[in-house]
Amino acid sequence: MKLFNTLSRQKEELNPIKKGEVKFYNCGLTVYSHPHIGNWVGYIYWDVLTRLLEYKGYKVIRVQNITDVGHLVSDDDDGEDKMEKGARKEGKTAWQIADKYIEIANDEAFNKLSLERPRLIRATDCIEEQIEFVKKLEISGFTYKIKDEGVYFDTSKLKDYGKLAKLDIEGLDAGSRVAINGKKSVTDFALWKFSPKDKKRDMEWDSPWGKGFPGWHLECSAIAMLGLGEQIDIHAGGTDHIPVHHTNEIAQTEALTGKPFSKIWLHNNHLKVDGGKMSKSLGNVYTIKDIENKGFSVVAFKLLVLSKNYKTEGNFTWEILESSQNRLINWLRQSDKIWQIENDSSTDVIDEIINALSNDLDTPETLSIIDKYFYSLEKYGKSANKQVLESIEKLLGVKLIYNDLNDSQKLLIKDRKKARENKNWENSDKIRAKLLEQGIAIEDSPNHGQIWSKARL
Ligand SMILES: [Zn+2]
Repeated sequence: MKLFNTLSRQKEELNPIKKGEVKFYNCGLTVYSHPHIGNWVGYIYWDVLTRLLEYKGYKVIRVQNITDVGHLVSDDDDGEDKMEKGARKEGKTAWQIADKYIEIANDEAFNKLSLERPRLIRATDCIEEQIEFVKKLEISGFTYKIKDEGVYFDTSKLKDYGKLAKLDIEGLDAGSRVAINGKKSVTDFALWKFSPKDKKRDMEWDSPWGKGFPGWHLECSAIAMLGLGEQIDIHAGGTDHIPVHHTNEIAQTEALTGKPFSKIWLHNNHLKVDGGKMSKSLGNVYTIKDIENKGFSVVAFKLLVLSKNYKTEGNFTWEILESSQNRLINWLRQSDKIWQIENDSSTDVIDEIINALSNDLDTPETLSIIDKYFYSLEKYGKSANKQVLESIEKLLGVKLIYNDLNDSQKLLIKDRKKARENKNWENSDKIRAKLLEQGIAIEDSPNHGQIWSKARL
């Protein structure tokens, strides 16, 4: 199993700390607004990775945070807390906003996209752990306090700070970015922010340093440690997290433990819309709801994402979604044949899929292997091997096996067969039209007689 490790800029063999077990952390959503389609890209890939590891027999312990406090508008620890801003916009409290969007996000992730559910930990559920974390860093001399601002991590105290992003620290300090709010260096970051003196926040807690709230980076370090321990095998997130968020997670955790945090760092690229950046002004910040409202399948969106490698920038257009949907419809129609035509005996294609996915999660290759598989079966008049379909379902989370005709539909199919045997073409055409109205297509094959397939998305 090879994965591209951002830390070494190389494909590396996955070599878990504990044999047979993979500790996997990935950064979760900030729950201040309805997630857009771009937010789901990483989760779709990490889900396939989890499924692959499980298929290979690993026990995968996966933890994902829910950011419901402390993620500020600017990465420089400046500006408003996104949660408080979102709350103000909707005339609610930050707590209500968090509950609302956690529910929406869970529904979209686990029901609509059928992603496997990791252990989810809310940042506000482990404030104690985060305070303890800062206390330990303080004892080791990695922190300093800035009046009215907060407790900061002193990045100059850590020898290899910035190794993930290969940051040129001296260049940064001398460059145009200026350390604000009294920070010693532009790369120093808040561990604990103080509540403003003149305003009551919805979310704030007492701490040894004063009333306030934890910094965004701290939450991931504390949650990963709480759920997985001091060292983990894989840490994943978006490429935008490399220079600040993940760099700072590494700094905090390694300062505290003195050991490497994660063996492998994975980063997914982003999804463009219509070849450009998603933006409110262009009206193209689409959500899963928009996809459904336009009559598309959410699973087709999943295939759209998987048609690109996780390191490649993706593109969303309604036309590309439509072609993904056509691919899915074809897979489903071909899969229906398992109830009607002799099943192919070979399961070799499973190995091909596993090999493609084991090569740094080559999902585009995987999809094209599956296309070719169905194409060749059609050519040789066979239906898929059931075990192959079950494996695709397990690995990609795309359900292909259905046997969901109702009794009246089964009867219609029988009646049509009889009508054809009696050469009653008029009646046979009538029944075919009736079935088509219910989404069931009938194909008359010279070798196999009539074959039904159902459009079900
Ligand atoms: Zn994180």
